[in-house]
Amino acid sequence: MSKVYLLSLGCPKNQVDSEKLLKRLAEKGIHYCADPAAADLIMVNTCGFIEAAKRESINEILKVSALRKKDRSKKLLVYGCLAKRYGDELLKEIPEIDALWGVGDDDQIVDYCSKQLAAKMESAGKDRFSDKPYAYLKIGEGCDRTCSYCVIPQIRGNYRSTGPDRILSDATELIRSGARELNVVAQDITSYGRDLKGYDLARLITELNGLTGDFRIRLLYLYPTSIDDRLIETIGSLSKVCRYIDMPLQHSEKKILGLMNRGGSRSYFEKLIRRIRSILPEVAIRTTFIVGFPQETETDFEHMLAFIKKMKFDRLGVFTYSKESDTVASGLKGQLTKAEKRSRYNRLMEAQAPISLSKNMALVGRTFRALVDETGDGIAITRLDSQAPEIDGVVLVRDPLVRAGDFINVEITKAYDYDLEGTVIR
Ligand code: SF4
Repeated sequence: MSKVYLLSLGCPKNQVDSEKLLKRLAEKGIHYCADPAAADLIMVNTCGFIEAAKRESINEILKVSALRKKDRSKKLLVYGCLAKRYGDELLKEIPEIDALWGVGDDDQIVDYCSKQLAAKMESAGKDRFSDKPYAYLKIGEGCDRTCSYCVIPQIRGNYRSTGPDRILSDATELIRSGARELNVVAQDITSYGRDLKGYDLARLITELNGLTGDFRIRLLYLYPTSIDDRLIETIGSLSKVCRYIDMPLQHSEKKILGLMNRGGSRSYFEKLIRRIRSILPEVAIRTTFIVGFPQETETDFEHMLAFIKKMKFDRLGVFTYSKESDTVASGLKGQLTKAEKRSRYNRLMEAQAPISLSKNMALVGRTFRALVDETGDGIAITRLDSQAPEIDGVVLVRDPLVRAGDFINVEITKAYDYDLEGTVIR
């Protein structure tokens, strides 16, 4: 059997691309294998979004290139965002790379792999990249926004919605193969349907909600100024959709949001959050902020700090601004030092920890439905509707009888800053 090892770096969108590619390769008889040393093909789907992601991609390519050096029958294939931006440099610096493609070159990759391994193909193996009970469902590609710090639109192009029939059939297939949670992703899911007649995100999630099966749906990456009452009310009316709103605000101050070329303001966001909480009383709101954006003064930062203390977000991610070449923001005056950015990052995280702890403490003694992600040594890692995979906390449950993929009822018994403990209620 021909085997491919695929390391998917970066965001869940990349992971969806990787899963799709693996599925296409599986159709050709080339199957996923979790051990690069045992694979015929070693592939890295790179991320070039920010400096840290670039470094991670290069380190990972270097690691697997050692295996390629030892065994010349293997092929090292690199593709994705970083490969698109810095392909020539990568080929020069890492000569073990056998082939390199950008984003959206799946046809060429499948063709190359098929040719390389034509003699070894046979059918059998694993279709889903991840054996976790959650999956990512990508509903569009590219982005029409023009955030001044972001290179994604240059790399991935304008926003294109995937057709609803395709999405519904992808979702059906994921549920059939064991997914119990579909995380709906795209660069900006609120753009869904702008290029389709009479279709929008609210209609799409209503149709996804109607699919047969015991599963839940989570919406990730909602652009805040595109969230309207119709969408919030639709979320509230659908039983399978988590009361979970993930909307990256990035800043609270109009001046900085203007420099970021993003919509909204502190008062706009306050009103929106109150509206969401009034329509969806048990909602968990997740957001992200960027600290240390060019020209962010101490006063701007303090306003943002006061804003997060006031709004008490259920989940908060913080990034330090990363200056990316070929972006408008990289040319702005007033870039901050690394130390200033780090200190603001720490102050924001320190402010959020007690908020997160008190929100978690309020759950103690209550019972919720949770999805079991994995089990081992009598301990199960589970998540509530309010906890997204990979980015939020989890609920640890000591119970040898639960199995991955089960929905269970959990009474929360203990709270930490980000994670919880609970017991199964039977
Ligand atoms: S919404 Fe802004 S940050 Fe997100 S991908 Fe589009 S341009 Fe980049």
